[in-house]
Amino acid sequence: MSNSGPGRHFLQIPGPTNLPERVKRALSRPTIDHRGPDWARLTLRILEQLKQVFQTSGPVIVYPSSGSGAWEAAMVNTLSAGDRVLFGSNGQFSSNWQKVAAGVGLTVEELQGDWRCPIDMAALENRLAEDRGREIRALALVHNETSTGVVNDVAGARAALDRTGHDALLMVDVVSSLGAMAYKHEEWGVDVTIAGSQKGLMTPPGLGFNAPSPKALAASSSAGMPRSYWNWEPVMAFNRDGFYPYTPATNLLYGLDVALSLLLEEGLPQVFARHARLAEATRRAVRGWGLDVFCRDAKAYSSALTAVTMPAGYNPDVLRQVILERFDMSLGTGLGQVKGKVFRIGHLGDMNDLMLAGTLCGVEMGLAACDVPHVSGGVSEALAFLAKDP
Ligand SMILES: *Cc1c(COP(=O)(O)O)cnc(C)c1O
Repeated sequence: MSNSGPGRHFLQIPGPTNLPERVKRALSRPTIDHRGPDWARLTLRILEQLKQVFQTSGPVIVYPSSGSGAWEAAMVNTLSAGDRVLFGSNGQFSSNWQKVAAGVGLTVEELQGDWRCPIDMAALENRLAEDRGREIRALALVHNETSTGVVNDVAGARAALDRTGHDALLMVDVVSSLGAMAYKHEEWGVDVTIAGSQKGLMTPPGLGFNAPSPKALAASSSAGMPRSYWNWEPVMAFNRDGFYPYTPATNLLYGLDVALSLLLEEGLPQVFARHARLAEATRRAVRGWGLDVFCRDAKAYSSALTAVTMPAGYNPDVLRQVILERFDMSLGTGLGQVKGKVFRIGHLGDMNDLMLAGTLCGVEMGLAACDVPHVSGGVSEALAFLAKDP
């Protein structure tokens, strides 16, 4: 067991993230009757708080599911068999989402992007303009690509749809950005926002979310895809009184309730500024080590994680293994086409300066232990930044 020793394990993968103590205590409360009055009050409070976090005045549907389930739910509620979905494709989570779309019988089209850069909005706009027959029924974008630490421009995608007068639904995955980076479902004109509980929302894995726009709700009444368990309609109907058509994930929802309160008590702008600052400190450490941040575009840096390019000839998974065994810290592995090329430092969720300092020290000690060519003292760059920048 990697985390059975003294002290605390450092879970510095970009999700699942460390759980706040108050969330852990909430999870351990006794399970109650999910058809009783206490349950209704809890559900209604959670749904209100979710609206604030998603920045929507519309409904938020919560499923007992992983984020992948929420991808499927978004599509089967709004589309029909064979409908074409255009994916901004610049990372592994976009690829995984495409597999889910193909699996339910949609036609997948990729707008290929460079994994080190955000999706090019001019190329996207050109493709939408070309689609005179309006075959593209949905545009799917991952806001924060967790495989690369690259952020895609959601407001830019909305603008591209508007300028071309294209009526495709805009679907955005915020699984690893919600609660870590600014996100505005309504203001950015997103039709379905898809999220999960285990990253910025500081709750264990197991809850998936869909936030539909009025246009997405209208689309759901004529969508032809078969759906039952994922169907928004009965969930929204039961939610009006604070209930669910099935047994909800009672204890995960206790945890979510507290986690949402923590985010709103701190204040969303403060939460986002905290993440941006930790991310900047991390990049300073990486550069101090003489290593490269994988994301090439400074405007697209993720506040939730940093993917670090490993020097050629060195295996990031060996580094990760040594760091786990020696220092009891988990870092993110490279996914898909960057497997064996990068490792990822998660700095989202319940994180503060000293947790980040410990994390970066663990990385620097690991680099030394594995004889990975680097400049020692990169951590000092991060510490100096954190000390001077309140
Ligand atoms: C983690 C993640 C998912 C997948 O969620 P699961 O809960 O593993 O199904 C989807 N999209 C992004 C961007 C993620 O980071």
